[in-house]
Amino acid sequence: MRCAYHPDYYVQLPPSHPFPMAKYPLLFERLRATGLLTDRQLLEPVEAALEDLRLVHDDRYLGQLADGSLDAAAVRKIGVPWSPALWRRSRLAAQGTLMAARAALEDGLAANLAGGTHHAFPGHGEGFCVLNDVAVAIRVLQRDGRTRRALVIDLDVHQGNGTAAIFEGDADVFTFSMHGERNYPARKMRSTLDVGLADGMGDDEYLALLRGHLDGIFAAFVPAIVFYLAGVDPARGDRYGRLALSDEGLRQRERCVLEACRSRGLPVVITIAGGYAPTPERTAALHSIVFEEAVALQRARADHWTHRPQGVKGP
Ligand SMILES: [Zn+2]
Repeated sequence: MRCAYHPDYYVQLPPSHPFPMAKYPLLFERLRATGLLTDRQLLEPVEAALEDLRLVHDDRYLGQLADGSLDAAAVRKIGVPWSPALWRRSRLAAQGTLMAARAALEDGLAANLAGGTHHAFPGHGEGFCVLNDVAVAIRVLQRDGRTRRALVIDLDVHQGNGTAAIFEGDADVFTFSMHGERNYPARKMRSTLDVGLADGMGDDEYLALLRGHLDGIFAAFVPAIVFYLAGVDPARGDRYGRLALSDEGLRQRERCVLEACRSRGLPVVITIAGGYAPTPERTAALHSIVFEEAVALQRARADHWTHRPQGVKGP
């Protein structure tokens, strides 16, 4: 599976900062060490083009990000101090998701070892999110005539409020968010389908809900590509999650999503989204589960993972 990664996904933050920036290099090193990511499979992004970012984001906001003129309130809302490195990092990660999307259209499956920054709106960032990488990738693919209809499966424990707002009323993009109802953001936006979960929910209830809703979505909507935000913050013990999925439950979740797409011949783009386990090492280990499952499924079904439209028989 081809994966996008850049060493500059990592940006130095103040020592006491709650965002686990170290998870990016740790995840990369882990996938390299376990052989899940080889040299040949590595996609190295450059910074996303401004004209691509403008398909989603306001000129004014992009200008402020570029020259560091965001006011204190806007920076506080993002929750990460502005720096030229943060701006570069945000653009690299957005391009990583776009490269993964293009690779997924060719291979059936690809990933970005970052991305899923779903709290970013056209004109502001929040919740550690600066640019909405998934929205930018969808708009670029549409502009280039590569795909029209996209499905966003957002299983980060926080609602994908930015993504929901960007695509509200757009019949070509189905946004599905399953999240803690009482968790951040306090004010939810309207996704095509929102499923709010009670605090403390465990594996069985979560997986039953997920399976039921995926069946319903695919019965109603046929996308050309699926973007999966595989946030691991629903895991038990997450600092911000308030849910209680076990490691095995998380593994079953990944298998469920990937298999639902594979069985329908749909290309999938994996982004990692959030995860706040007690240590960055543990967070990286949880993020690696979706890669383990994706590669296992791809190996098992190498000749079957295609991206032909549903119901079309290939040679
Ligand atoms: Zn989250």
